[in-house]
Amino acid sequence: MAVAVVHSRALSGVTAPGVTVEVHLAGGLPGVHIVGLAETEVREARDRVRAALQNAQFEFPARKVTVSLAPADLPKESGRFDLPIAVGILAATGQLPQDKLDSYEFAGELALTGELRAIRGALPMVLSARHDGRAFVLPQASAGEAALVRDAAVIPAPTLLAVCAHLTGATMLPPLAAQPPPGDVPDGPDLADVRGQRLVKRALEIAAAGGHSLLLIGPPGTGKSMLAQRLPPLLPPMTEEDALESAAIASLAGSFRIERWRIRPFRAPHHTASGVALVGGGGVPRPGEISLAHHGVLFLDELPEWDRHVLEVLREPLESGVIHVSRAARQSVFPAQFQLVAAMNPCPCGWLGHASGRCTCTPDQVRRYRRRVSGALYDRIDMAIEVPAVDAAEMTSSPPSSGGGDATATVRGRVARAHARQIERQGTPNARLASAEAERHCGTSVDARRLLAQAMSRLALSARGYSRVVKVARTIADLAESEGIDAAHVAEAIGYRSDPACA
Ligand SMILES: [Zn+2]
Repeated sequence: MAVAVVHSRALSGVTAPGVTVEVHLAGGLPGVHIVGLAETEVREARDRVRAALQNAQFEFPARKVTVSLAPADLPKESGRFDLPIAVGILAATGQLPQDKLDSYEFAGELALTGELRAIRGALPMVLSARHDGRAFVLPQASAGEAALVRDAAVIPAPTLLAVCAHLTGATMLPPLAAQPPPGDVPDGPDLADVRGQRLVKRALEIAAAGGHSLLLIGPPGTGKSMLAQRLPPLLPPMTEEDALESAAIASLAGSFRIERWRIRPFRAPHHTASGVALVGGGGVPRPGEISLAHHGVLFLDELPEWDRHVLEVLREPLESGVIHVSRAARQSVFPAQFQLVAAMNPCPCGWLGHASGRCTCTPDQVRRYRRRVSGALYDRIDMAIEVPAVDAAEMTSSPPSSGGGDATATVRGRVARAHARQIERQGTPNARLASAEAERHCGTSVDARRLLAQAMSRLALSARGYSRVVKVARTIADLAESEGIDAAHVAEAIGYRSDPACA
């Protein structure tokens, strides 16, 4: 039969819809016509496939070859379809048996020599394919990440020839056993290396325990970014599903490394980053920094220096945990459930409030500087804390202690227990509670409620700000292993509400 059908996958956001590659041979002028790919990509795929087939000593048909990739309206990058197209041509010309094709999916870019090159997105493809019952043939370099999916059959192949030998039954390629490495080892700098800054460390512990967003306000050189880097290792262990989601996004960006399996991402884009770099986009939409930070930490330093319009875009993912990226008529959805840590100087020169009195800014300059952080974004930050000026060199000069009350491993244990209480009580971290749920789950005492009412009028809290104080107080109570929220928990939570816009 001069027709062959081969299964493969395209990428759309973080999912990978199935694509069928049909190859049809007919009389007429010899040539290859590919339908369902953009024009330049057609040319590239055609040339690579032809060279690879000839270099592998196969016969390239001297007939009219039509290749159709369906559905036609999915965006398709050409590289990944080289292997299914080549297999389809060989099957349609009778150089490969067709009977087993339906048991497999194929993806891989061909080098001109017939070697298979890594493709991006192997992990999300296998995640989408895992319940379809077909084995997935992938380039060797892409198979490792795909084998993280437990219930998937992944077959790594070095070359087109090896794939053919497998399909003819001459030399079977062994499937790669799914064996996710244990992971779950806190990785990164230790909290115990930081001298002093007791209040900031406490704020990091609370933020980690409840999943709260955090704003650090302090002069330059106080180690704000150094402190932020110590947050991810404090966070509760990742579940396997969460780890797969994070890894799938890194795979889409072509940046997945197996050593990072089950380690929470930390992304720190520069304030000159474009909107596309931050939220994602491009011809075939790729994830941005906020999605690469999924289930991890997004650190935005120099917050007032960021373009306001870029920051406004963060409102959607901060509320919903996803981002919609539009490109022409097509919309892609990427998960973006990150924990936001932002940092800023207290004033344009950075020295406001410092004992040395070095600050030369006028009150008006300070106000304008702080207003650059949009109120709408600030309203979505749970905790703000002043980082006092300590010389950064001095802060890290002491030898790292181990096993102390503020060592990362110790704090991580307290965080994990507080997190487990939240999951048991309400199925989600405190920071992600809707306001109505917060009222139901928080159980505030009479004293605590009185204190909250006072704070509401004294600090002129918005309804959002009020519910944030309640949720942070709930986390403080969880760390104290307390059923209800007491006045002391509320008092501490109110302390993390210093508004940079009215200092
Ligand atoms: Zn100043």
